Formats: sequence, structure tokens, C-alpha cells
Amino acid sequence: MSKEKIGFLGLGHMGGPMAANLVEAGYDVLAFDPVPAAQEQARKDGATVVDSAVAAATDRDIVITMLPNGKLVLDVYAELLPAAEPGTLFIDCSTIDVADAKEAAERAVAAGHRVLDAPVSGGVAGAAAGTLTFMVGGTAEAFAAGLDVLAVMGGKVVHCGDSGVGQAAKICNNMLLGISMVALSEAIVLGEKLGLTHEKFFDVVSTASGQSWALTSYCPVPGPVPASPANNDYQPGFATALMTKDLGLAANALRANGVDGRIGQLAAEIYNRFNQTESGKDFSAIVTDIRKRSEGEQ
Ligand code: NAD
Repeated sequence: MSKEKIGFLGLGHMGGPMAANLVEAGYDVLAFDPVPAAQEQARKDGATVVDSAVAAATDRDIVITMLPNGKLVLDVYAELLPAAEPGTLFIDCSTIDVADAKEAAERAVAAGHRVLDAPVSGGVAGAAAGTLTFMVGGTAEAFAAGLDVLAVMGGKVVHCGDSGVGQAAKICNNMLLGISMVALSEAIVLGEKLGLTHEKFFDVVSTASGQSWALTSYCPVPGPVPASPANNDYQPGFATALMTKDLGLAANALRANGVDGRIGQLAAEIYNRFNQTESGKDFSAIVTDIRKRSEGEQ
């Protein structure tokens, strides 16, 4: 069977390398992004760059979007759904609100298409290496139709449930990560005040009941985990702006579904405040804010 014809919209930090991996794997990719630098890079990567979103979605088997937010996804879908061949598979890889993902899916199906929400984890490095994890929502039939293409861009592809449930997995995971980074950072700063060195903290907690991925793989203070952003002046990594966005989506979902999620709401507030001044720092730099605020500075 010949490879599917792909349309790819959104050639930013993530979408650019994802589209490049599809080209590399031999797919015919029509690509669109309004930013000239992104177009230029896509051309260098071997994609055929077109001059509108509609052109990238015309006569394609699969249309992939990797966009900043849910409003843009819905706006772009409003343009694309009437223009695409009936039965086109739309795969949205952006991280967006669960409600927006469900709305996008309803509109795609009403227009005669198939649809998956397929947000990712793994960051820019995972996008470049083709090792992203995809969390996918949609019908079993749509999932089967998208699996080969997702497997080119990812190392792990999980069918989480119906439309919107891929986004649900993404925000549940990232809410947990944001909460655990704040909790870990509070414990580290408390340990500092009580005379516990970072080395001894790590030595004990990394194998005790307070252990977490945030500590053992992404330690927010320099030393114990040499590859963590703390050793590189908190260069991301995973930027505070992105964690703030994801916690905002999680907070919306907590409210919309009546979940008594006080810690999740608080983590969203804590990162929202930190994001006002430090949006470009890695999210693990929250430990520096907690330390500063614990010294009485605001
Ligand atoms: P980005 O801002 O680098 O890229 C988004 C791209 O979309 C930009 O190049 C922009 O010009 C383009 N765009 C805007 N409107 C468009 C339109 N109408 N048609 C086509 N393209 C359009 O963002 P990113 O870091 O690549 O993130 C993309 C998505 O992936 C976001 O939803 C983000 O939350 C999610 N995500 C990012 C990371 C990460 O580490 N960067 C990790 C996981 C998930």
C-alpha cells in the first residue's frame, strides 16, 4: 500500500521536526505555517511548503495540526473541514482543552471526516528524535488509520479512549508533574532551612516513600542528577510557560467536571504567578522562587 499523503500545519518547535521525520520516512508532506522562518526550515527538511492552510489540507489522506492553543485549532478546522476530501483523517497533536478537543472532533465528524486528538510528551528533543509519546483519543477505526504515521513520529502510541481522552491523559500527567515539582521544591527548601544538604536529601528520598520522577530524573537543584536543567541555569527543558499553560487546562477541567482538585488549582496559581516573570526558565526553577519567597522577598 502506498504511503498516505500528509498535510502538516504548525511548523514550530515541535511541528517542524515532526514534519521533518515524516519526510525522512518517505511521506509526501504539504506543509504550512504563517512564519517565514518556519517555512524556510521546512523547505530545507524536504517538505513542500504551500501558501495557505487550505492548500495544505486539499487532496490529503491525513491532516496533522501542531498549534499553540485550542482556539486556533477550532479556527483552522473551520477553514479546513469544508476543503478536505470527505473521509480525511484529522490528527490534532496540539495540547488543548478537553472541551475544545471534543468540539473539534464533533465538527470534523459532522463534516464527514475521521479524527484523533493525539497530544504528545517528550518535548523538542523527542520530536527531533522521533521518540514522542502520543496519547490518543478517537474511535478504534481512526486510531488504526493513524497508527503508522504516529509511530514514525513517536516511540510510544497509546490509544487512551474516545475523542478528548488523549488530551485528558496529557493534562492528568502534567498536572501531577506540576504538583510534584512544587511539593518536591517545598521539601527541598524546608530541608535547606533545617540543615539537610541536597546530596543527603537525594540519597534518602530517592529510595524512600517520597521518591518521584521529578526528583530522580529531573532534580530541581544542581548536583544529584547531572542532566537536569538545574545544572544549566534552568534553561529549558520544559519551559515554565508551557507548564503554566498545561496546569491552566487541568484547572479548567477540574472545575468543569466538579473535581475537588485543590492542589491542582493551587499548582496552577503558583506557576501562573512564577510565569509572570520567568516564563522562559525551566519549570523546575520554581524551587528558586519558593526559596526566595521563604527569605521574605516578594
Ligand atoms: P510553537 O509556538 O513553536 O509552534 C506553533 C506553530 O504554529 C508556530 O510556528 C506558528 O506560526 C504556527 N501557527 C500559528 N497559526 C497557524 C495557522 N493558522 N496555520 C499553521 N500554523 C500556524 O509551539 P510548539 O512548542 O511547537 O508547541 C506546539 C504545541 O505542542 C502546543 O500546543 C504545545 O502546548 C504542545 N507541546 C509542546 C511541547 C514543547 O516542549 N514545546 C511539548 C509537548 C507539547
